[in-house]
Amino acid sequence: MVKIALQITCRLDNIEELKPGGPEFRWCLKFTCSNCGQASEKWNYVSLEESTPMQRGSGVNNFVIKCKLCSRENSMTIMEHTIKSFTLNDQGKFKAIVTFDCRGMEPSDFSAREGWTAQTIEGGREFSDVDLSEGEWEYYCDETLQPVGIYEIKHRFEKIK
Ligand SMILES: [Zn+2]
Repeated sequence: MVKIALQITCRLDNIEELKPGGPEFRWCLKFTCSNCGQASEKWNYVSLEESTPMQRGSGVNNFVIKCKLCSRENSMTIMEHTIKSFTLNDQGKFKAIVTFDCRGMEPSDFSAREGWTAQTIEGGREFSDVDLSEGEWEYYCDETLQPVGIYEIKHRFEKIK
């Protein structure tokens, strides 16, 4: 078992807080099998809303996949309490926004995609379903009368010891 945190960084323009939008948020990931080293070419969606009981113990899997090469069944769990927002104060550094508990595989790539929630500064609008598929997002807050945006989103993975 290995715990891997997904860290992101981005530039926020008049946005106070960026976060995954609730339990139905889908993390879009690629994986590498730890047993044989096979890397998946396909993107996979992992969500808290999709869970199956583990064969042993009382936990749940949020994603199960059989490796195409070695046929081993690998799985992972989203650690719900580790889900965090990226805020104005986090700019300029990478911040862990979720940790995955991985069994037999590790995430190798992440795509931000859609379903994010963004809160405008100064109590302006909250935007739901922000789409970061293009790596950035721009809009206009009609309450604070300012342009808002999210730019230069980048990610990295970090093993938690
Ligand atoms: Zn494998």
